[in-house]
Amino acid sequence: MLHKGFVSLVGAGPGDVDHLTIGACKAVQSAQALLYDALVSEDILDLAPLKCVKICVGKRGDRLSVSQEKTNALMVRLARKGLHVVRLKGGDPSIFGRVEEERDYLEAHGIAHKTLAGVTAASAAAAQFAFPLTHRGEARSVTFLTGRTKDGSLDMREASVSDPGASLVFYMSSHNAAHIEASLLTAARSPSTPVVLVENAGRPTARAIKTTLVDLAHSVASAQWDGPVLIGIGTAFRFTRLEAVARLCPVRKKA
Ligand code: SAH
Repeated sequence: MLHKGFVSLVGAGPGDVDHLTIGACKAVQSAQALLYDALVSEDILDLAPLKCVKICVGKRGDRLSVSQEKTNALMVRLARKGLHVVRLKGGDPSIFGRVEEERDYLEAHGIAHKTLAGVTAASAAAAQFAFPLTHRGEARSVTFLTGRTKDGSLDMREASVSDPGASLVFYMSSHNAAHIEASLLTAARSPSTPVVLVENAGRPTARAIKTTLVDLAHSVASAQWDGPVLIGIGTAFRFTRLEAVARLCPVRKKA
């Protein structure tokens, strides 16, 4: 049966409405159905039309969530009703966002789609705490890694792990900090390599902690995390300006 349903796979950025691209904002404003991740803020959801169906399909680590299969099926069901479905994903959909699984599924079911980029958490953290991800002559590359693989292991074989000139940013990895620390020390990274831990990057509630590789596991364990956390490891992170968040992003009080 013919239908004009369409799915936009949209990056919402790290949470705060200020990080939405104009394209993402327009997509949300024209959504007839919105399937959103747990990390997407209320301010962003408020941009959707009143009549828009809003469904949280979010995942936060191991916490209960809608399965990927159900999310896929829901996108197809809503699109087949002829709706503009916006699948709003945290950060950039192309970075640890399972976006390819969603595109594959949509194509297999004959649903037209497009993808809109978003600001990834690492970029938001770098801007907010004023550190670079690469630095001329010192940090020549940046690698995004995850401590949460399908089988629960941590894949540390990347050449960048042992390269002192590579910045590493770990997503979904705070539970694996001890393993990351041990693996990098084994790979001959210096114990004094700068480390930054950033919670709630890109939001008014952001918090950063500066430490070093040898203290990574201890620092992660002794901080009380509530929101999502990134781990940055490499010389570039020595520039982290902890005061930057207070100056640039004052906490907004709700009226
Ligand atoms: N696609 C997202 C990443 C999804 S994976 C992006 O591009 O940002 C989810 C992980 O991203 C979290 O476990 C955490 O490590 C990281 N993350 C997402 N939002 C974050 C935020 N606001 N602050 C710090 N880390 C964040």
